[in-house]
Amino acid sequence: MKKIVTILGARPQFIKASVVSQAIAKLDSLSEVMVHTGQHFDSNMSDVFFSELGMRKPSYFLNIHGGNHGSMTGRMLGEIECALLAEKPDAVLVYGDTNSTLAGALAAVKLHIPVAHVEAGLRSFNMRMPEEINRVLVDRISRWLFTPTALAAQNLRNEGVMDAQIVPVGDVMFDVALRHEEQVDAEDGPLKRLGLEPKSYVLATIHRAENTDHTERLGAIVDAFESVAAETPIVWPLHPRTRASLERIRKLEGLSKRIHLIEPVGYLDMVALEKHAALIATDSGGVQKEAFFFGVPCITLRDETEWVELVEAGWNCLAPPEDAPKLSSAIRLALGRKGQAVHPYGHGDAAQRIVARLASDLQT
Ligand code: UDP
Repeated sequence: MKKIVTILGARPQFIKASVVSQAIAKLDSLSEVMVHTGQHFDSNMSDVFFSELGMRKPSYFLNIHGGNHGSMTGRMLGEIECALLAEKPDAVLVYGDTNSTLAGALAAVKLHIPVAHVEAGLRSFNMRMPEEINRVLVDRISRWLFTPTALAAQNLRNEGVMDAQIVPVGDVMFDVALRHEEQVDAEDGPLKRLGLEPKSYVLATIHRAENTDHTERLGAIVDAFESVAAETPIVWPLHPRTRASLERIRKLEGLSKRIHLIEPVGYLDMVALEKHAALIATDSGGVQKEAFFFGVPCITLRDETEWVELVEAGWNCLAPPEDAPKLSSAIRLALGRKGQAVHPYGHGDAAQRIVARLASDLQT
């Protein structure tokens, strides 16, 4: 039996890993050991996903979070190396673009353990984003580059990556959404608790450093939300980093009651809120795609996006949060918009394809 060590640590990674881990568990030829770095550690940013999505508890919990990027990544690198030396895996599996992804891939490659990167090839072409730095470096040192879209594969080819390393599989988040969509119920979930009717509200999520760490951008977002909320209520599950930033710039006090600030929710509640929203306003990568999976228009509060196919198809539009009046009119304009029928994210079997390829390559 071949052993895979999976490194994860942040909310979207738990969600992506859930389907891949289940596919690994079905095979006799592969086993999996999970290392949780602790990057996200609150129960509503971590534990809830393990219980809701039917995942086993990780074998290692490194409890590393906080501090600057370099120090966080460095501490993870050392601890992950110890786990890999103890486990001696045949491959290391990493997801997405966080510091846990970079630390996991780097620790593995330095021990000559091949790395599999799920969600490879995404590019914003903005190297000021911590996520972009992580993606570019992890792709460079990975043996298997599992790409979610045709564009992601093309980005890698443009960087000179050999076709033999690029494995187009589709998007694991599409697998997860298909699997759980039916479990949510508008009658008995977060909408009921908030007293909201389906299609009557905007769902917002904000957590990117480029927004939370810039007072003017975050201020413009809050002011635009205040303006929109006069007509359309806003539901805003607050990421811990965003809550801290709003406290710092004193924007939490006196917010309109029509902006429902709530704690981060579990995946199933999030899907319910997404499915029944009139519009989603976000800077999250995963949430942009989920809006599309559920046929909800999306406005992305960033200067650029990695998921450009949704902008091209008319499901998403970019609105850099530089100016509150401009942003509030962009949000109003986006309400009710629909895009073209496109299928960029595969067939909902990305996890199975990833695991089949790993199992086959590791046997030879
Ligand atoms: N999500 C969630 N609860 C929330 C906010 C987001 O379960 O309160 C889920 C969301 O449905 C998506 C994922 O978290 O599957 C996206 O993660 P995040 O926005 O943190 O990161 P990104 O996708 O930008 O890397």
